[in-house]
Amino acid sequence: MRTGSYLAGQWFHPSSTRTVRNLNPADPSDVIAEFPAASAADAVRAIEAAKAAVRGWRETPAPERGRVLWRAADIARRRAEEIAQTMTREEGKIIREARGEVTRGIAVLEYYAGAGFRIAGRTLPAEARDTFTYTIRRPLGVVGLITPWNFPWAIPVWKSAPALVAGNAVVLKPAELTPATAVILAEIYEEAGVPAGVFNLVVGSGGEVGSAIVDHPDVRAVSFTGSNAVGMALYARAAQRGAKVTCEMGGKNAVIVLPDANLEKAAAAIASGAFGSTGQRCTATSRVVAHPDIRGPLVEQLDALAAALKMGAGLDETTDLGPAVSADQLQTDLRYIGIATDEGARLVRGGRQHEALPGYFVEPTIFDQVAPGSRIFREEVFGPVLAVSTASSLAAALEIANGVEYGLAASIFTQDIDTALRFVEEAEVGMVHINEATVGGEAQLPFGGSKSTGVGEREMSEEGLHFFTELKTVFVNYGANGKPLSMR
Ligand code: NAP
Repeated sequence: MRTGSYLAGQWFHPSSTRTVRNLNPADPSDVIAEFPAASAADAVRAIEAAKAAVRGWRETPAPERGRVLWRAADIARRRAEEIAQTMTREEGKIIREARGEVTRGIAVLEYYAGAGFRIAGRTLPAEARDTFTYTIRRPLGVVGLITPWNFPWAIPVWKSAPALVAGNAVVLKPAELTPATAVILAEIYEEAGVPAGVFNLVVGSGGEVGSAIVDHPDVRAVSFTGSNAVGMALYARAAQRGAKVTCEMGGKNAVIVLPDANLEKAAAAIASGAFGSTGQRCTATSRVVAHPDIRGPLVEQLDALAAALKMGAGLDETTDLGPAVSADQLQTDLRYIGIATDEGARLVRGGRQHEALPGYFVEPTIFDQVAPGSRIFREEVFGPVLAVSTASSLAAALEIANGVEYGLAASIFTQDIDTALRFVEEAEVGMVHINEATVGGEAQLPFGGSKSTGVGEREMSEEGLHFFTELKTVFVNYGANGKPLSMR
């Protein structure tokens, strides 16, 4: 396997002696690769390489930049199974989900490839006579991308593709837990014809490499996805030096189920939202607010669905539920299960580590009769743990659903259009679903959250592209006589 860092068009061995051990969480004795960790000095070299390369890339016509992404999409399609298998091996998600993530990333590459033809400003009327006024969108320069481990392919793609097509040079720092998928992305961009220095990959720790990117004066924008603790600190630091920042952070996503809901459909969506990707999705369903009339049967159906899930290594095609990504995440899951039990929630299913499997496996876990104010109902666990509470009206359910610091996604199950639209209006989240799981995102749709989940622009879509540009307003005077400036 290649070494983890790619700088100025070269794969290189970072100078530090610290090694990143990339382990398979389904079987930690399976060492996928060992990378020499990059240092802060390597991050600075990457930023300098990006700075040297950005002018040539910015001057490349945008449709041509888009064609490079189109070629990247073709190469990714050719290497799709390898990307999916690498992702499953290093992150643990089941292979079906990994394949879905690869497909989603390819769609993002295609979407932004086309955007190369559409990076547009506006023409607007001028107050002054004989004056043509319009705006253009220009790239920012060097941008830093810092990504988490839970979508090792899709998130680096959905940040780098708009940054590149907009004409920026990129320094990507992937999570140390999942660098191998990012290595493939760098290889794909290299083969697709991204010029040397325009895309750089630096594999090292957040504290060292991430901080160096956040604090460097030549990095004009930082796009971060990860936890609130890291994101908010990083936001404050980068903003202090005037950099543009977008942070997509945690979630605690609720599903409201009303008495008129299709219960079977609701249960299936909740189970897939809660236990899919081992609950390690920012959009995972972690809370249910059920009407008392249907809570009992709903919990029974959820229990049956959880019981049917087969746990195991994600590379086994028959597996439904993979491991936690790391020993630390496993401990976090078990700690929260302990907290919920101490808080008096009723354990319906699960609650233990699956000792018979070699990796970091936690049973799919359901708690019922959970108090809305309890920690298990308010704090992000990031594991296969679902908490069920009740409310007897839409207003009460909304109050509970909105009563957390996060605001990423929420869903409602009802057959009533008025209720559904009231929910759309009142739910304090960036993404609302009706009669489906809280999960999902598409290339052309804005992705992100409100409240403490997100600051800055939404990702993917046109908004995701706009983040990586700045507007320039242009005044062209074609009159015969000059006018004093005070006329404007
Ligand atoms: P994390 O611990 O915050 O790490 C995210 C990235 O930040 C990693 O690359 C990490 O590097 C880096 N980092 C850590 N400390 C840093 C520092 N001081 N300066 C700069 N960078 C630093 O998050 P995670 O555990 O990887 O991901 C899980 C979290 O991501 C969850 O909260 C989840 O909800 C959130 N998430 C949100 C979205 C969304 O769109 N809202 C999507 C996916 C995930 P190392 O880990 O390599 O040290």
